[in-house]
Amino acid sequence: MSVNHHPSEAWLMDYALGNLPDAFETILTAHVGTCPSCRSDVALDERLGGEILARGNQTHAAPRPVDPDMLPEVDSFADDLPSRAVDVGANGGFDFFVRTYLKCSSDSLRWRRLGGGLQICRLTEEDNIKMWLLKARPGKVLPQHTHEGSELTLVLKGAYFCGEDLFKAGDIEDADETTYHQPMVTGNDECICLAATEGSLKFDSLVARLAQKFVGI
Ligand SMILES: [Zn+2]
Repeated sequence: MSVNHHPSEAWLMDYALGNLPDAFETILTAHVGTCPSCRSDVALDERLGGEILARGNQTHAAPRPVDPDMLPEVDSFADDLPSRAVDVGANGGFDFFVRTYLKCSSDSLRWRRLGGGLQICRLTEEDNIKMWLLKARPGKVLPQHTHEGSELTLVLKGAYFCGEDLFKAGDIEDADETTYHQPMVTGNDECICLAATEGSLKFDSLVARLAQKFVGI
């Protein structure tokens, strides 16, 4: 499986440091587990973090290249900490994801139909960060919207276009309050995504705003 869309370096640094709220942590764990490129970035961040700690530097210094002379010391320090760059193998699909990361069976998920071939399953809400699943039929165009804060979306099944960008299983769409988008499901299969959203979505249309009142996303 090839992954073409990754979270930003800032997300990966926070992930490496274990600094993220649960919802974002879940999405990044699932992506990093199947993305060799992000695993290697996380492993590098862990080594840089190890170097900073090994030097006893308590300031928020910007990451810099690892000094080769420091590597044995850094490696021994980093070896004491469990790495977060864990390979879970190939993406095992939606059921695998639900079992592994949501710790339940896909049969137990409570989907709500929104009409027009769209279903939503709310999972968690903590500190104004919501985690939810979205299922959409082929060809479905989602309402145009922006966000109050950060949003990470991990594609679990199927694919969608956002503008000219194609997001498919394993890809992450990294959005925030500056992103204004309207995903469109493509291909013959339904599309299922996991989203973690800070604050609420801000829809353009009245119908979408009404639906939002009932499902609370
Ligand atoms: Zn990646």
